[in-house]
Amino acid sequence: MTESLSVLSAAVRDVRDFPKPGILFKDITPILSNGRLFRMAVDCFVEANADLRIDKVAGIDARGFLFGAAAAYQLGIGFVPVRKKGKLPFQTESASYSLEYGESVVEMHVDAIIPGERIVLIDDLLATGGTAAAASCLIAKMGGLLVEAQFLIELEFLAGRKALSHLPVRSFLKF
Ligand code: AMP
Repeated sequence: MTESLSVLSAAVRDVRDFPKPGILFKDITPILSNGRLFRMAVDCFVEANADLRIDKVAGIDARGFLFGAAAAYQLGIGFVPVRKKGKLPFQTESASYSLEYGESVVEMHVDAIIPGERIVLIDDLLATGGTAAAASCLIAKMGGLLVEAQFLIELEFLAGRKALSHLPVRSFLKF
């Protein structure tokens, strides 16, 4: 596992000044485009959830879909998208949040979660924690029990765990 994590860490590409000056963007596409690395990354989430009795994965738009949906498939459980405003066709609940680089709104379908379901929240990266905190509010509104928030990458200097102090948080690659 430790060896897999250092291989994955080394594959994350730093892109300076994207999408705005001053932001160091952690690009995961080198992981996605390599079958062995993509499987390693998805397996981190699958192994983390093997014993948590999860009913559904909630994945955050858009890169959380990539790992979340693959992990849900392997775990044999459902996947629900937490999407940016205006993308979901049916009735939604929404929550607003601030990003490392801007403001946004996330939405979920009102029937995405059955009250009492055990949910794991998955995204590619934890920065300030605003997105995941907003998603956790939506899950709570729908009566879901958010068991853990999980991220492939955590930018520790942005202290996102503080914004999520009400939740168990797990990340695999720390920068
Ligand atoms: P935050 O709400 O600040 O925790 O931001 C997390 C969300 O923004 C995730 O969906 C990430 O994909 C994206 N994000 C924020 N900062 C970065 C970054 N430096 N590199 C890549 N993605 C980022």
